[in-house]
Amino acid sequence: MTAEFDLVIVGSGPNGAIVAEQVHAHSPEARILVIEAGGTITDVPGEHLVEADESAMNASYNDLMRRARQIEYVKGAASMNTIDGDSWTPQSTGVFPAAFFGHNFAEFPGASVAWNIGGMGVHWTAATPWAYAAEIPDFLPRAEWDADQETARRLLRTSVGPLIPDVENPCAQPIFTALREVVPSPDPDRELGYMPMGGVASAGRPFARTGPRDIAPFVFDGSAPEVELRTGLLVTRIEHDGSRVTGLTLRDLATGAEESVHADRFLIAADALRTPQLLWASGIRPAALGVRLNEHASIDGEVEIDAQRFGLTDADIVKPPTGEPFIDSFWSPSIGEARPMHGQLMEREFEGRHMLSVGWYCSTEIRPENRIEFSDDLVDELGMPHMTVRFSYSENDLDQIRRMQDVQQAAANALGTFPREYREVQPPGASLHYTGTVRMGGVDDGTSVVDTDGRVWGFENLFLAGNGVVPTALTCNSTLTGATLSVRIARAISADI
Ligand SMILES: Cc1cc2nc3c(=O)[nH]c(=O)nc-3n(C[C@H](O)[C@H](O)[C@H](O)COP(=O)(O)OP(=O)(O)OC[C@H]3O[C@@H](n4cnc5c(N)ncnc54)[C@H](O)[C@@H]3O)c2cc1C
Repeated sequence: MTAEFDLVIVGSGPNGAIVAEQVHAHSPEARILVIEAGGTITDVPGEHLVEADESAMNASYNDLMRRARQIEYVKGAASMNTIDGDSWTPQSTGVFPAAFFGHNFAEFPGASVAWNIGGMGVHWTAATPWAYAAEIPDFLPRAEWDADQETARRLLRTSVGPLIPDVENPCAQPIFTALREVVPSPDPDRELGYMPMGGVASAGRPFARTGPRDIAPFVFDGSAPEVELRTGLLVTRIEHDGSRVTGLTLRDLATGAEESVHADRFLIAADALRTPQLLWASGIRPAALGVRLNEHASIDGEVEIDAQRFGLTDADIVKPPTGEPFIDSFWSPSIGEARPMHGQLMEREFEGRHMLSVGWYCSTEIRPENRIEFSDDLVDELGMPHMTVRFSYSENDLDQIRRMQDVQQAAANALGTFPREYREVQPPGASLHYTGTVRMGGVDDGTSVVDTDGRVWGFENLFLAGNGVVPTALTCNSTLTGATLSVRIARAISADI
């Protein structure tokens, strides 16, 4: 049988888009189909919501982001879209707590999934700090890692600098000076500075965060005849003979009709929860599937900046352009073993107050006890295997969280007032940076699901991508690291084509 496609990609989020872009660039003749379960969230498929023309959508995005808490965003994003009370329907679009789908995420309650064209990539804040020291997989050649990360940075349009290019922010330097003193770094390259952000800064406009459409426009605008995007189709099963995948079973979510699609190779980039779920549903169950779920612990907080301390007044506080939630975005990088945690600090005006959100993430131990358990008996709202997440912090993790709170406290004290009610440890899952559920490994020793090409061990033509593939414990936000691996995986797929 002649396959209809050289490559089928499941998932139109940033990782699906990166693999499509890279394979298309290396092999322009390759016939690529991208399948996405979610539907249209704005009139321009794959654009980031900050770019949306629809004023209500943009205003909601702006308002939710200004709260600077992803968990608030997710709660708000679920309700800003078409849902009936609390019940989700296939026509709903947005980001939803995983529990909406009927799963048991009691031990990982902050976790969410995207259900729209472009995945979480149309919602994200776009902070793209890079992995450092033990965060970089030691079994990959370092030169390849660095080159792939550079490509991923280009595709995510990562830049380091002010969010608003035309207006000087008088608070930026005093913040740098104050925080460099209390959260010091022995390495000048790991000194507190601007947060690397994925997007384009332009005068008088909100920072144009990179959506999947910016990564691979031709996937979303139909401009490449060899590349097709089909939406509203849930992939329910990978058809295979134990070592080779022959096709995918799809369900049209509007009509319920089922069909199969055939190809020479397949890439699943359906996020760190639903990628292993789909493999499980298809009887592909390596020992490491869903095991070693990892997430950095996160603490949130907001400090009211005392401008007078820096010789400034309220008049010096920059007003961001309409539609832009933040004044600036700063990064306190991890310095490795000595301080395996990083700060994401977002300056903004909120309800008339000048605030800096002081969020910190610290790496947690990779442990097999932290895992997704899939059921053979129960199903979710979509008829896919029911998931129960087992997740807890080790004693070491709890120690790190306490150390991180001290760092946060010191940083906040250096800038202004930091009432106790303005800080909290986020529930597990809330960072939305979960990793490790289909991790990459250098050898097939039962602790990894894919090889260094992203190919599922024992399979010729089944590849996985996304945060789930990341094998290390991250301090940094996960998207750039997942994207770096996607560049590598796309190279292997192109070589295969
Ligand atoms: C509010 C918010 C803020 C964030 N901020 C940051 C940040 O600042 N920095 C950072 O690094 N990360 C951030 N993230 C996380 C970031 O968006 C994700 O890491 C990134 O989108 C992951 O990309 P992905 O392509 O692997 O998965 P996703 O973007 O989740 O895309 C997966 C796609 O697969 C589709 N899919 C799933 N299952 C199936 C199936 N069976 N059949 C067909 N389609 C399927 C889904 O509908 C979805 O569109 C944020 C996320 C949110 C929601």
